[in-house]
This record gives sequence, structure tokens and C-alpha cells, in this order.
Amino acid sequence: MNHPLALYNTLTRTKEPFEPLQPPFVGLYVCGPTVYGDAHLGHARPYITFDVMRRYLQHVGYKVRYVRNITDVGHLQNDADHGEDKIQKLAKAAQLEPMEVVEKYTHSFHQDMARLNVLPPDIEPRASGHIIEQIQMIQEILENGLAYESNGSVYFDVPAYNKEHNYGKLSGRVVEELLSNTRDNLEGQEEKRSPLDFALWKKASPSHIMRWPSPWSDGFPGWHLECSAMSRKYLGTQFDIHGGGLDLMFPHHECEIAQSQASHNKSDAARFWVHNNLITINGKKMGKSLGNFITLGQFFNGDHAELQQAYSPMTVRFFILQAHYRSTLDFSNDGLQAARKGYLKVMNGLRILDQLNYPTGAEAIDAKAEDEIKKLTAELLTPLHDDLNTAKAIASLFNLLKKINSMHTGGFKLETISQETFEQMRAQYRLLVQDVLGLKMEQTADAQELLHVVLGFYKEAKEAKDYAKVDQIRAQLKGQGIVIKDMKTGIDWAYEE
Ligand code: ZN
Repeated sequence: MNHPLALYNTLTRTKEPFEPLQPPFVGLYVCGPTVYGDAHLGHARPYITFDVMRRYLQHVGYKVRYVRNITDVGHLQNDADHGEDKIQKLAKAAQLEPMEVVEKYTHSFHQDMARLNVLPPDIEPRASGHIIEQIQMIQEILENGLAYESNGSVYFDVPAYNKEHNYGKLSGRVVEELLSNTRDNLEGQEEKRSPLDFALWKKASPSHIMRWPSPWSDGFPGWHLECSAMSRKYLGTQFDIHGGGLDLMFPHHECEIAQSQASHNKSDAARFWVHNNLITINGKKMGKSLGNFITLGQFFNGDHAELQQAYSPMTVRFFILQAHYRSTLDFSNDGLQAARKGYLKVMNGLRILDQLNYPTGAEAIDAKAEDEIKKLTAELLTPLHDDLNTAKAIASLFNLLKKINSMHTGGFKLETISQETFEQMRAQYRLLVQDVLGLKMEQTADAQELLHVVLGFYKEAKEAKDYAKVDQIRAQLKGQGIVIKDMKTGIDWAYEE
């Protein structure tokens, strides 16, 4: 490939040149949502980040298989091995089947993602649909002596694993330090040999609804296991990129690596582990479990005390892409309002480019102008080669936009650059904005309101007895299938029947 991509790998803590294991194919796995509530702004960041990564890899020429799961079982309240299942808890409170909760929030998640123009993954596996694969993986880990059964549950043996492997290699945590921090937190841990051990299978209590038969008990899989089993099923024992939010690095991704090494995979699952940073609100992580979140639906309709106004899906998308994915991003109304302006500027640029026509037979090329536009065009996509720097790519769009606006108003004469350079500029601008960053036009003008403006002019023309203008407005609206109705009570319009 002649388009290098340097990608920051959490596993090595360096930016590495990205080369797929089996070019031109790229396997990408991203941890999906636990569907027990509406998606919030914190969810939008990983899915937008990896949507752009997937779009970019495709643009470069790779054939991407993007797998993003739905967690519909096994994610317990405290993100560890005890407490109630998040979905089951809500189902009980609302007197619903757990799968009713799952369907409801999967549907609303898909709607939010579609509004944000996040393309659907190629495969969207559910944890509850892969119980057999998870049981098989547990059996492998047991066979390899790195898990044990205890009272119908199965736990991963972290100290045994750590003798030959490095538990903590991803997050930089050290087993001894982790052990010294777990003294106070032994509740519900009696079945484990070590407090660091984590559940691969949990025996269900009599009141637990979501349960499946297994060689050990009627129960359910541990949360970390689903991603290991499903990524292997669809991408193989080793694949290219595993993504997710920084909050998933430990313990979730650390455990995924351990499970993969301890099973017959004997790999780190992915070569590149890529983490987006978190969205904060007043400096704190935004999260459902923290109770300080604003749902995407609330952003779109403005219905939240922290919001000064509604923010459209594309404003939210632009707000997220204006920061590099590895930097923190703090929610603020000012930031979102600035993002709205920036987004509209970029969209106006698209409109202008649609309207601009290269003058025929009028080339008067100025070498300086030609070089300038060529350079600004080349700078559009290059920041993405460097660890997907969308912030810099957007800055380069603004640099070119100054010239595009000047072309529109006539300050910059189009004939001073070659037609080829002009076409290239237009194509690259569209490519970056629409195909790679995934920004699209939102309907900002209300057609009915615009019609009222026109009817106002019609009324003025009539009062001034300007019948030529009256006829002109009537004829032009008729061309749009609209007829004007002059009534004693005033002026109205109707669709032409
Ligand atoms: Zn996961």
C-alpha cells in the first residue's frame, strides 16, 4: 500500500506503521453497547471514532470486516463478578422479559447511530447468541490448566496465568499492586482462589432469569468472555485491530487478552489495541453508572438542564471529530455551539463547490496560485495517516475553505489554476467531508416557513398592483406544485390537485 497509516497501539505504547496480517483484508473488532438504557454522548465517541477508522481504511483500499457486538447478557452492575445483571435488573423493575429490554434499547441504539451517520458494522453478534462458543472457550482454558471450577462457577486463574504470561501487559498494571489494592473488596469473592480471578461462567441463583445449561451449572457467561469468543468466531484467533473506549482497557480488554492467550488461540487476539479517550462533563467521566450522562436523544431535542439548546446529530459528530480521538473532550455548550458553526461552514463549502464551474477555454495559470491550491488539497487527508488525526484534517479543511470562499466571491480567479487542480481539489474536499468524516447535509431550512416568506412577497406585490410580479410568483410556485389561494380572509396555499 502506498498510503501508510501510523496507529497508536496501547499494547506497545508507540505509534506503529499499520500493516494488515493478510492484506488487503482488515479485521476490526469494537466493543459494542450493553443495551439497558439509551445511548449517551460517551457512547457516541467510540462508535464515531471507529466508524471514521473503518471509512478511512476502506478509502485507502483495504477490505474491512467490522464486527461490533451487542452485550445482552452477563454485564453485571459493578462491571465485575457480583451484583445483578444490568439488563435483568431493569427487566424485573419494569416487569419485562430481559429480551424485551434488549430489543428496545438495541433499536434505539441503532436509530441514534443512523442519525449520527455511523455506518452499521458488517457483523453485529449478540452475546446471548454465542453461549456455545463461550462454553467451548472455557473448556479450552480449563484444559490448559488456567481456570478452575468452584461451586458450579468457573474462574480464570490469574496467578497461574501470570507465571507464564503477563497479566497487565495492556494496561500497565502489576499483579502485586493489584493484589494489595483488593483487600477491602472481598464481598462475594469466597469462591475464588485469588481476588484477581475473574468469572468465565457464573452459576445462576434460583431467581436469575437469564440462564443456560453448561457442564458446570445452569448459569451464564462472564462479561469479558463474549468479546473473546465472538471476535475469534468472526475474525480468527488473531486479527488486526481491537478498539474501544479507554474505560474498557482494564479489566475488560486485559481479561480478553488473558482469555485469548489461555485458550487455544495463544495470541493477544489483536495486533493493535486502540483506545479512544473519554468524554468528560465538568471534568468527570460521563457514564450511565455515574448518573451524569446526557443521552443522544436529549442532545437532539435539547431536553436536559445542562443543555442551552438542541444540538443536531451532525453537530455532535463534528464536535467529536474536532478533537483527536486520544485526547480528552469536555462537554460544554460553547464547544457544541462552535462545532455547529464549524459544521455549517464546511457544509457551505460543499454547496459552493457544487455551484462552481471551471471557466471554459480561459486558462491563465499562475504558478503560485496553482501550487498553493495543490498544497492545500494534499494536506486534506494526510493528517489521517498520522494516527487518524481528524482534528488536523478539519483544520486543513478550514484552510482550503478560505480559498474556496474567495473563488465564490470572485477574489480568487478560477482560471489561475488548471482545471485538473480544480477538479482534484473538489474531489478531495468531498471525499474527506462526506466519505471519510461521514458528514452530511441536515435539513436546516423549513420549506413551509420559506413558503410563508414567498407569500409575504406575493401579498406586497398585490397591494402595490404589480401584476407582472404577482403572475410571476404564481407561475413559479405552480412549477413546484403549489397554488396560491386568494380568499377574503387572507392568502393561503394548497398542493395543486
Ligand atoms: Zn468487549
